[in-house]
Amino acid sequence: MAARRPLIVGNWKMNGLKASLAEAKAMADRAASEKPKAELGLCPPATLVAAMAKALGGSPADPHRIGVGGQDCHARSSGAHTGDISAEMLKDAGATYVIVGHSERRADHGETDAVVRAKAQAAHRAGLIAIICVGETLAQRDAGETLKVINGQLRASLPDDAAAANTVIAYEPVWAIGTGRTPTPAQVAEVHAAIRQDLMARFDDGAGFRLLYGGSVKPDNARQLMAVADVDGALVGGASLKINDFWPIVEAKN
Ligand code: PEP
Repeated sequence: MAARRPLIVGNWKMNGLKASLAEAKAMADRAASEKPKAELGLCPPATLVAAMAKALGGSPADPHRIGVGGQDCHARSSGAHTGDISAEMLKDAGATYVIVGHSERRADHGETDAVVRAKAQAAHRAGLIAIICVGETLAQRDAGETLKVINGQLRASLPDDAAAANTVIAYEPVWAIGTGRTPTPAQVAEVHAAIRQDLMARFDDGAGFRLLYGGSVKPDNARQLMAVADVDGALVGGASLKINDFWPIVEAKN
């Protein structure tokens, strides 16, 4: 089994206008000159995917280019789904990744595990890497249900065609997203070990899937979080909008 290359992905959520491409370009220039160990990705709003892919340039074969991703996709490739965007459209716009099952989409749009699974399958069909998010709420953690919840989400959100090459798992405790609160390294280690165990039990290449931690990763806590066993990188929200916040996180996984 090849070593897992670290992966740091920025989720810009509903932030960013054309002017923000300059910040992304600065990150791409830094990646080109410093050649970080981690693979890097940025997931802007859908309106910027094509423009960002063009602005960042680089060939998919370049290990130091910053790949672009979508934040969601529809399960179908085309059709009467006003306002939705398919995985094929993201691919056509230059995307490499798509986030599916983010807790904000699960909460705001009622996305179930079955919906997330269909979206992950769509990503694979289109040739995208699906970044599948799982995570417990604070009430579930307080009730001692964290591992049960994560196990259930993994079982039901991952399609059978998932493989290390086309799927990344992001563990994002809902209570840590955008709150400035993070789990302790021991809590992250416990969940990541459980995810790894589940993946190894179900997939021949379960040891090769990359597992990201996400939830209030910042320059001042990144080194500690990225050092946890089985943490292969980060899914970063707020701190991915500015190079001065994002870059120390990239360097934390060097
Ligand atoms: C996220 O939304 O995926 C996320 C991790 O956000 P933040 O880093 O802002 O908590």
